[in-house]
Amino acid sequence: ASAQIGVTGLAVMGRNLARNFARNGYTVAVHNRTAARTRALVEEFGQEGDFVAAESAEDFVAALERPRRLVVMVKAGEPTDAVIEEFAPLLEPGDMIVDGGNAHFADTRRRERALRERGVHFVGAGVSGGEEGALNGPSIMPGGSQESYEALGPMLEKISAKAADGSPCTAHIGPDGAGHFVKMVHNGIEYADMQLIAEAYQLLREVAGHSPAEIADIFRTWNTGRLDSYLIEITAEVLAHVDSATGEPFVDVVRDQAEQKGTGRWTVQIALDLGVPVSGIAEAVFARSLSGHRELRDASRGLAGPTAEPLGKADAAAFADQVEQALYASKIVSYTQGFHQIAAGSEEYDWNIDLGAVASIWRGGCIIRAAFLDRIRAAYDARSDLPSLLADEGFAREIGEAQDDWRAVLVAATRQGEPAPGFAAALAYYDALRADRLPAALTQGQRDYFGAHTYRRADREGTFHTLWGGDRSEVPA
Ligand code: NDP
Repeated sequence: ASAQIGVTGLAVMGRNLARNFARNGYTVAVHNRTAARTRALVEEFGQEGDFVAAESAEDFVAALERPRRLVVMVKAGEPTDAVIEEFAPLLEPGDMIVDGGNAHFADTRRRERALRERGVHFVGAGVSGGEEGALNGPSIMPGGSQESYEALGPMLEKISAKAADGSPCTAHIGPDGAGHFVKMVHNGIEYADMQLIAEAYQLLREVAGHSPAEIADIFRTWNTGRLDSYLIEITAEVLAHVDSATGEPFVDVVRDQAEQKGTGRWTVQIALDLGVPVSGIAEAVFARSLSGHRELRDASRGLAGPTAEPLGKADAAAFADQVEQALYASKIVSYTQGFHQIAAGSEEYDWNIDLGAVASIWRGGCIIRAAFLDRIRAAYDARSDLPSLLADEGFAREIGEAQDDWRAVLVAATRQGEPAPGFAAALAYYDALRADRLPAALTQGQRDYFGAHTYRRADREGTFHTLWGGDRSEVPA
């Protein structure tokens, strides 16, 4: 046995991850269900490092030094179970299987439990950064036992992206499904970031009358400031791109129906189960779903819209500054919601997740990498028990400074009939948290009226019910 690590599943992600390990000096055993992929990898990239090509599962396992570290990069779902079933019987206690696919954290918990009984460590590791990240340095979110991290962590730290200060974009997240849970929320936040950016683009275009090329320049300027991030950077590239077939802006020739693979939906489903209000992430998922309902949209074409005129040119420049404020404020809210969900998951499953460390390892390699994450890390470093990012003095001040413009942007959007569900949900969340009193008191009254669901009073302890159908006196419940 000569390989320090093995990768099975050599499609785009697995192949690039294997090359990344090899380029960092590790001997990598490689395996794929269809052996042609294994041969192709070694033929094309064999000169990049030391690969051991294995055609059978037995040869693959035999090639690995102990404790064996076996990375599975196959299609998430049943294929992952099939591969685990194939390899687990060949492993010995102390060995580990690392699932780098986009597994649901509940599946990871189940698989970890089953393998633990056989003495095999199971590490559910979220990997973000796409194809390019897998090759040059992704952000890696490994769960599993502390013991498995000791054997695996140094290798992951080596191949992961590095933040601007040189620290690796990986850390032990917590037991069993913690890593895949954090990856799931990462993707939920990614959906929200993308939706907010899309809304900013739409408003700059439809309210302020800018062309895609002009908006690309606005985004490039934003990318030199506090919104500096990978997603803003690639947005400018996409907006500046011109379709070669028609000479039209690329963004005008693509069908306006967004697709999704499911991690955003999982984030919202789990948030509902945990009772965490991730309204911004939910709006982002729903916005994609709404865009896909072509038949509903076609049937609604004739519905009346507002009659206001677009803003004049002079206002357009000022409007762009206001949109930057609205985008930044809404971004603070979606990260507030996402980190709340991680805290709630950590509490529910006893994961003891370090939120500052999560912000830290998202600073490089992953899709939501951004200068902004340094600020979040600093907020948790200053106060590890921060109940909400909005409770951080710096974020509270910034969002306070942005709020007038944020409101103005939503007024303009509403007046001209442009949907901005992400901006609106974020502002509603902010205003609801600020409110002295919420109409939830009335909701409680209604629930007590029709279902005798009882209520608590603001002025004294206890649970009460009003005899709505009788003399309307109050009785203790
Ligand atoms: P795919 O998700 O397209 O999966 C293809 C790979 O899975 C092939 O190696 C295929 O083998 C193997 N496979 C499928 N079914 C089985 C099975 N029943 N038994 C054994 N092997 C099987 O590959 P990607 O590289 O795109 O993604 C790999 C994982 O990484 C996925 O879980 C994905 O969600 C996740 N991921 C992907 C990202 C991306 O940007 N693409 C980003 C982050 C994570 P064969 O060649 O024999 O068909």
